[in-house]
Amino acid sequence: MEIYLNQHIGEINKSIVNEGDKVIKGQLIAIPENFGANIHASVSGHVKKIDSNSIFIEPDKAQDKNDYLKIPDKDNKLELVKEAGVVGAGGAGFPTHIKLDVDLSDGVVIANAAECEPILNHNIKLIEEDPEIIFKGMEHILDITGANKGYIAIKNKNVKALIALKSLVSKYPDIEIRYIPDIYPAGDERVIIREILNIDLEPGVLPHEVGALVQNVETIKNIFNAIEKRKPVITKDITVGGRVEKARKGQVFLDQPLGKKIGDYIEKVGGLIEPAGSIYVGGPYINQKVNINSAITKVTSGVLVGMPQPNEKRKLGLLACSCGASVDDLKDIASDMGAEVASIERCKRMVKVNNQYKCEKPGSCPGQTEKVLALKNQGAKALLVGTCDD
Ligand code: SF4
Repeated sequence: MEIYLNQHIGEINKSIVNEGDKVIKGQLIAIPENFGANIHASVSGHVKKIDSNSIFIEPDKAQDKNDYLKIPDKDNKLELVKEAGVVGAGGAGFPTHIKLDVDLSDGVVIANAAECEPILNHNIKLIEEDPEIIFKGMEHILDITGANKGYIAIKNKNVKALIALKSLVSKYPDIEIRYIPDIYPAGDERVIIREILNIDLEPGVLPHEVGALVQNVETIKNIFNAIEKRKPVITKDITVGGRVEKARKGQVFLDQPLGKKIGDYIEKVGGLIEPAGSIYVGGPYINQKVNINSAITKVTSGVLVGMPQPNEKRKLGLLACSCGASVDDLKDIASDMGAEVASIERCKRMVKVNNQYKCEKPGSCPGQTEKVLALKNQGAKALLVGTCDD
């Protein structure tokens, strides 16, 4: 098992174990020195090696599936969330104890069940299998933040999950189910706030500035586990799909131990369909290239195998999106295609905020004619387009 020392936004953690140490599943093994989140052992075993990026654990042969070392008891819920090392499980990896440390008196908490990346389905599966954990987790978030209303934002195509939620909603008078459209990127915080609260957040404005907090459903499960079971984050829900033999449209694996190799999951679904392209973690739109030896982390959502890239001899123009493929992603694809990049443009709704490109109106995508003409005028003979619309 390779437990990465950085599984969150922030600095790399410092190991607090040594090579040769015996560790128990759930034991705290790495701590942030600054901004970050605790990291715990996902299995019992021995620390085989530690390098600058990872702690390698040789697991004991016998593992008790359900047992783990509980986090120390604390006198408030936020401290339990911090101790458990909860981070945004949707991919952002922002430390949850910092996100929840806001005063939302009279505000709202929104559970993000959009799961808008195609193929990914583990959030919806979680709701189908254990809907109550979402309601209970949300009640804890309402309590921590002082918000008085909770909404579960979900697409109405997820019929089984909706039936599961509706069977319980009357028990939780502070929480309602709200529908969001089946568009990309419906799971973007600003899209959810626009659809549920009818508030257009300017790029760079944080949800709590308008009295809202959006939390991914798996993160809500981890908050519940931290508070009610004193369980640290040692597992991840994932979907495996793409060019794999038995799961092209995606197969869900819930509660998988952090540190297990990506390649193990590709084998579990019958191996690669050849010819196969690169392996990515994330979704088809937003992802990161990995390899079969990369490990599952707190922010791994999908494990997807792509198509091999075609060879391209023509000069390419790249058109980037802040919610889809970035300039770097597109350059990477162009390089895999063996193509020369002639020109680069960004969607006209991308604006720079604090040195990062953000979308002014995610999901409300404009035509790109003027950008396409600009790319052609700069020498592009073919286009590589990362935007959500044409
Ligand atoms: S408006 Fe532009 S940047 Fe925003 S999501 Fe649509 S294509 Fe992407």
